[in-house]
Amino acid sequence: MSVRVVARIRPLLKLELDKDTIVTAESQGNEAPSSPTVVRIPNPRNDSESFSFQFNSVYDNEATQQQLFDQEVKPTVKHLFNGFDVTIFAYGVTGTGKTHTMRGGKSLADRGVIPRLLSSIYRQNRKIEKDTAGGTQVEVAMSYYEIYNDKVFDLFEPPEKRTPAGLPIRDNHGKSVVVGLTERPCMTLKEFEQLYDQANINRSTSATKLNAHSSRSHAILCVKVTQTTETTVRVSTVSAIDLAGSEDNRRTDNNKERLVESSSINKSLFVLAQCVEAISRKQSRIPYRESKMTRILSLGQNNGITLMILNLAPVKSYHLDTLSSLNFANRTKKIEVAEVENEPAFRLPAKPLAASIISGPNIQRQP
Ligand code: ADP
Ligand code: MG
Repeated sequence: MSVRVVARIRPLLKLELDKDTIVTAESQGNEAPSSPTVVRIPNPRNDSESFSFQFNSVYDNEATQQQLFDQEVKPTVKHLFNGFDVTIFAYGVTGTGKTHTMRGGKSLADRGVIPRLLSSIYRQNRKIEKDTAGGTQVEVAMSYYEIYNDKVFDLFEPPEKRTPAGLPIRDNHGKSVVVGLTERPCMTLKEFEQLYDQANINRSTSATKLNAHSSRSHAILCVKVTQTTETTVRVSTVSAIDLAGSEDNRRTDNNKERLVESSSINKSLFVLAQCVEAISRKQSRIPYRESKMTRILSLGQNNGITLMILNLAPVKSYHLDTLSSLNFANRTKKIEVAEVENEPAFRLPAKPLAASIISGPNIQRQP
């Protein structure tokens, strides 16, 4: 079980070009120029102070989709085919780039983690089938659902067919499964993209009915890879999750519906952070049962690899939300760098991993 938390600071948007960038990526200490691992942000109460937060890696406004994929996600594909489950989360305030990171844009360069991941999986399939001269067959199937107000909805179902109560979850030999979830085979990138695009349309249709629904639901894509030989069947799953916005909705609008939404979002994100924390500290008790999202994902139950991408906006209008997002990921942590022996399950070439996932916040006074 390993966990990695990385931060990604998005560039200024067109409308923000006249604004200052207040969130920056830095290398740690006075090491030789290396990839950044620290996010620095001013203290909103005192401009001469700043807070720093450490991550396994930090990507700044210049990082491309390709870089993020190559450095963080590509190494997990090998583990997926070795039978490990992989879970990738995008966490952050609405407007910070979660969907851009996970799904991305239409152009090749803009494609996000998900299409690149699938492309990489299909490439690996062809390689395995060729290397084993057809002795190993690989099948790929996907399911895609969202969790909204702690209810599970199948994104292959058009919104008008949804049952308001959502799909039930049952325990099946110690694993939680969503009952009645559609699973679609997808054997090529093209097939995958058609299914994925259609499901995303289902997601945005329900978004126009319910006010900004999509920023308040978790979208969970599960891709199941089954490798079959004459004697063995090996199944592993990669889950890619575009989480609900982590902003405190109560602050902006406190009507009743919003309160229900925001308490279920806050709870599931809180449990998620606790699970990530518990896994990173190799604790035996992972509180995954305490929210539907973490329960379905069986976070911490399986041997697996978890990657959390913390998306951040660089501008002042997000200042408090950014800080609470950073603090939130940090809240339950009291880990000192280099004291926790977290042997990561995968290593990146030429770049040592920080021993803890996040430390801080450290206050630094500027001279
Ligand atoms: P979220 O899903 O977190 O609400 P989005 O992914 O929709 O945020 O991003 C908000 C806006 O910022 C979108 O217009 C998106 O295209 C843009 N954006 C986010 N990240 C990047 C990036 N790394 N490079 C360029 N544009 C980005
Ligand atoms: Mg989004």
